[in-house]
Amino acid sequence: MKRIFAAATAMAAFSVLAAPPQDTPAGEQRFRELYKELVETNTTLSAGNCTLAAERMAARLKAAGFPDSDLHPFAVADHPKEGGLVAVYPGRDPKLKAILLLAHIDVVEAKREDWTRDPFTLIEEDGYFYGRGTSDMKAQAAIWVDNLIRYREEGYKPRRSIKLALTCGEETSSALNGAGWLTKNARDAVDAEWALTEGVDGDLDAHGHRIALEILAAEKTSQNFVLEATNPGGHSSRPVPDNAIYHLVRAVDRVSHFEFPVELDDANRAYFTGMSKIVGGQAGAAMDAVVKNPQDVAALAILDKDHNWHAMLRTTCVATMLAAGHATNALPQRATANINCRIFPGDTRDAVLARLVAVIEDPKVSVSIPEIRGPIATAAPLTPQILEPIEKVAHELWPGVPVIPALEPGASDAQFLNPAGIPTYGITGIFIDPDGGNIHGLNERVRVQSVYEGRTFLYRLVKLYADQ
Ligand SMILES: [Zn+2]
Repeated sequence: MKRIFAAATAMAAFSVLAAPPQDTPAGEQRFRELYKELVETNTTLSAGNCTLAAERMAARLKAAGFPDSDLHPFAVADHPKEGGLVAVYPGRDPKLKAILLLAHIDVVEAKREDWTRDPFTLIEEDGYFYGRGTSDMKAQAAIWVDNLIRYREEGYKPRRSIKLALTCGEETSSALNGAGWLTKNARDAVDAEWALTEGVDGDLDAHGHRIALEILAAEKTSQNFVLEATNPGGHSSRPVPDNAIYHLVRAVDRVSHFEFPVELDDANRAYFTGMSKIVGGQAGAAMDAVVKNPQDVAALAILDKDHNWHAMLRTTCVATMLAAGHATNALPQRATANINCRIFPGDTRDAVLARLVAVIEDPKVSVSIPEIRGPIATAAPLTPQILEPIEKVAHELWPGVPVIPALEPGASDAQFLNPAGIPTYGITGIFIDPDGGNIHGLNERVRVQSVYEGRTFLYRLVKLYADQ
């Protein structure tokens, strides 16, 4: 997933979308065909095939001159359609660790009957690319593949090797996660000094003005908790006060009123410090105040009105599913609720569970963890080695637009790489609209110009990193 930036406040905008930097028309056309092929290869869990999409990208790399020995398609026997690809672009200095370009190539489900246009056809209309995955995240996946093709075409010899990993299973929590699988089963193949992937983008305001380029250094961990109340039940004509549904709804209600304490780390501190200058006014002052004093109640009240800022400041938990009862004329024997929590970096599952038990304060309602998908996300350090090249290329392309670190309330595949010792940063250089381009939703879209600019940005950025 990617984060949607949605500040309601009026903001200083730094540059109107200007003409994008141009590659040769032939180069842009080749990129567009590659992107189109990727978008038009359905990679939903239900009907799609990531393995096929990865094979198609491998075929393009092979056609560009990559030897088979540098192309490593992979798939797990039980999940034949959820495969991926690792490709290597060798560097000059074998003593230096590689950098890893990571992209998930699976997409969220999309029903043709719900969409205005076919979700699996790349359609350009009114300056936008429409289609499932156009934004999340086949644009960046296509850019990664295209980067390697361009480098080879130029005869570019980087100091560090550049690795590419295209993986499946990021969008569906029950699916096999390719990035996680690689860190467990092919750790050497993806070993890298650090990795780049999705997470946050450039922010446009409603008029298409660039506000900031975000870089993701920390993200929260998604964890489900199940609340359950059980009861012997009985005939509904003879009700008793001790009712599983009543216990459960009271518990859910208590969760709804509970707020986890505010926490600051390097990522959200840097975000609010940088954003306060852009946002200005009352909200900007509130950001400065919270960075100074995370317990500043008045300032928090202002920031908490924005659902994104609210989520960046703390662990959150929210009810997402309910199930209860077995007959319309019976007292319920069982009532369950799913509570989806987004755990702040550094907090633990056990601590959140203990907090929920304390908040619910009802021994008749149990709280349990149904499944653990991966380790708790840790933050990657924002060193000058990481930040300076981003600032340099951003300044070349979009002078005056600030680079702002961010904490992502959602989760990406960084959750698997960071704990495996590969610091992972989200950076796309793709500027998106305030509504986020409706990723995961209907009629997903991204500005055509933003995709081409992101391509230029990442092409230059990866070179700077690979030559470090
Ligand atoms: Zn994504």
